[in-house]
Amino acid sequence: MNKFYITTPIYYVNAKPHLGGVYTTLAADVLARWHRMKGEKVFFLIGTDEHGEKIAKKAEEQKMTPQQLCDQNAARYEQAWDTFSISYDRFIRTTDPEHEKTVTDVMKDIYNKKLIYKGTYHGLYCVDCERYYTAKELVDGCCPLHQKKAVVLSEKCYFFKLSAFQRPLLKMILKNEWIIEPEERRNEVLGFLKNEKLEDLAISREKVKWGIPVPWDNSQTIYVWIDALLNYLSGINWHPNEEKRPEQWPPDIQLIGKDILKFHTIIWPAMLLSLGIPLPKKIYAHGFFTVEGQKMSKSLGNIIDPEELAVTFGAEALRWMILSLFPFGQDGDISQTKFYDKYNAELSNGLGNFHRRVLTLAAKKDIYPLHEADDFKRKIKSVWEKYETSLDHLKFESALTSINDLIGFCDKYINQKEPWKLFKKDIAEYQKVLYNLLEGLRHLGWLIQPFMPEKSNQIFASLGLDNLEKEKPLTKGKQWGQTEFKKTIIGEILFPRL
Ligand SMILES: [Zn+2]
Repeated sequence: MNKFYITTPIYYVNAKPHLGGVYTTLAADVLARWHRMKGEKVFFLIGTDEHGEKIAKKAEEQKMTPQQLCDQNAARYEQAWDTFSISYDRFIRTTDPEHEKTVTDVMKDIYNKKLIYKGTYHGLYCVDCERYYTAKELVDGCCPLHQKKAVVLSEKCYFFKLSAFQRPLLKMILKNEWIIEPEERRNEVLGFLKNEKLEDLAISREKVKWGIPVPWDNSQTIYVWIDALLNYLSGINWHPNEEKRPEQWPPDIQLIGKDILKFHTIIWPAMLLSLGIPLPKKIYAHGFFTVEGQKMSKSLGNIIDPEELAVTFGAEALRWMILSLFPFGQDGDISQTKFYDKYNAELSNGLGNFHRRVLTLAAKKDIYPLHEADDFKRKIKSVWEKYETSLDHLKFESALTSINDLIGFCDKYINQKEPWKLFKKDIAEYQKVLYNLLEGLRHLGWLIQPFMPEKSNQIFASLGLDNLEKEKPLTKGKQWGQTEFKKTIIGEILFPRL
């Protein structure tokens, strides 16, 4: 059986997830559900990044211990992932004892391989990012993400010999042994590795107390980014000194936002190379949102809260809409109006209306026996082909376009055949036409399953198929004309008009 291991970055435990994090996680969930639907064994890892100075400071402001703050926020994240029906297999927290053990063991292993040495670091540090910047990366001395002045820090610390990996990484990318997608992001990393000198990386902090101690020197804690990246190993219970390797490794895909590209395409593979284990098969970095042409920011007051959107449109509708707005690897513009338009056009008037129309017609008879139908069958086959290729290439918006295409085809078919007239003059023909439409709806139930699992169940239930359909393998589910329809139920409206 094929396996599929997918990860999202673990999110810094803010009070709650932001739109970008929800976007990555939704995309990962659709992939996880798609691969499960294909019968593969999926492991889907998500989690929270809980160490570092920023957390310690916030906890102090709120008169809590850092652990209490992390517990509170991690619970908020789990709740949000429930709202969005995220079907993760493990939720890893960097304060989990198993994670701390993996980090400690990995650090010892790399230290023993003489790839870590002691030194003094001087640098420009953004407290909010919890990372050092080079002078060139700063904008007027400020962090490009937070617009805050970077502070000069000088501290004793341990360095990881990252510079030793410049050539190996460059070679691996050029030979496609290390896959970075989309192309623009690959070029960005290649450009960096070709033109800049990779410096050794400070991987411990003297001043930061809220972190995992350096195993051989308790006066230092491990840099939060190194700690966080290792969740991809601790999440599958990986330890350097155990012979037996978890079957999930290496991940098939690691989804990230493009803001954390370098961490995942330079530092992370360098760590794995020093551990002597294979690299993830693919890193895919998606784009950013702008809101009506502007960057989302607190100061502009244009922050879009994904949980509020879920209240307005329903979490399932949001799963569909957010992935259909623009191609996954690119940047895209969103607005409240766009969400409303999309909801009404594609969900309420599109899928929802078709569902109701067919079931209202189907209620006129009890049984719709099997029969062959060439046009319909051909159309559905081509929709599946486009859909599957799209999902295999992370083209979510194109997979959704092919679903919309099928809905459009079905609507046109009803208008052409005018079944309400057939009912009066040719009942056998009426049953044939309706059979095709019900079969079309059943296929739609399958096609939307990774995107809107609840609505998919609702469609199967209204077709009188319920769990039987859900438990079928995809190979059976996507075949034409194997299902007889008896007892359909109109049920609730899928997408009420807003
Ligand atoms: Zn910053």
